[in-house]
Amino acid sequence: MTSFDFASLYTLFDAPIAALDCGQKCAPYNEYGVPFCCDTRHAVPTAYHAEWEYLRSSTDLWHVWQADTHEETDRLRAEAPEGQVLIECQGHLKCQRPFRSLVCRAFPFFPYITSSGQFIGLSYYWEYEDRCWVISHLDVVTPAYIAGFVAAFDLLFAWMPSEREIFGYHSDVMRRYYRHRRRPLPLLHRSGAFCEALPRRAEIRPADPLQWPKFGPYAIADSLPFPGE
Ligand code: SF4
Ligand code: SF4
Repeated sequence: MTSFDFASLYTLFDAPIAALDCGQKCAPYNEYGVPFCCDTRHAVPTAYHAEWEYLRSSTDLWHVWQADTHEETDRLRAEAPEGQVLIECQGHLKCQRPFRSLVCRAFPFFPYITSSGQFIGLSYYWEYEDRCWVISHLDVVTPAYIAGFVAAFDLLFAWMPSEREIFGYHSDVMRRYYRHRRRPLPLLHRSGAFCEALPRRAEIRPADPLQWPKFGPYAIADSLPFPGE
């Protein structure tokens, strides 16, 4: 594997996910008021080896992640994707936006690959449905963010075709999960349009994101007479 220009990739993929600060929406529901995706008790970021080389030579924001016990550290390191290292930043109050990792920028999304192998857009890691506010409000995701995401992963896949295979496998798992749930799978199409995949019929159709379900505390808040309260 040759080296890769992560500085350029970060420049391409720099637009915020939404016009508002979504961290202020989810943090009140987490202990100590930390946005869930910036809390290693909920999500430990990873970096590709070349990305880690770039980050550690450019900023003091990150260090290699360690759990409270050696056993837990070893267990999670063994589960980390091949070619990547588990990392931890100095915390959300000391975030350095230009040095957010690719994983930080992409959360809660991953590149969705169809069963015929096309990278057609973004879907989300469903295991965070109960915590990530954005997943319950996909209508707020901006076209600029989707465009940056797509440009970054197009570049990454050209550099590391094996990553496309890995996300293809993950997309397949997601299709099976949604088939089992008998629910359409939400997609942010690479064109910027909102769509949903119907895994049972292998069909993709336009969708209204306001009709997609909400989860966890966000579903409860939405059911109140004044949902914004
Ligand atoms: S992406 Fe999700 S978990 Fe992360 S700050 Fe925004 S709402 Fe919270
Ligand atoms: S670098 Fe910023 S966005 Fe990434 S985990 Fe740390 S605080 Fe959150």
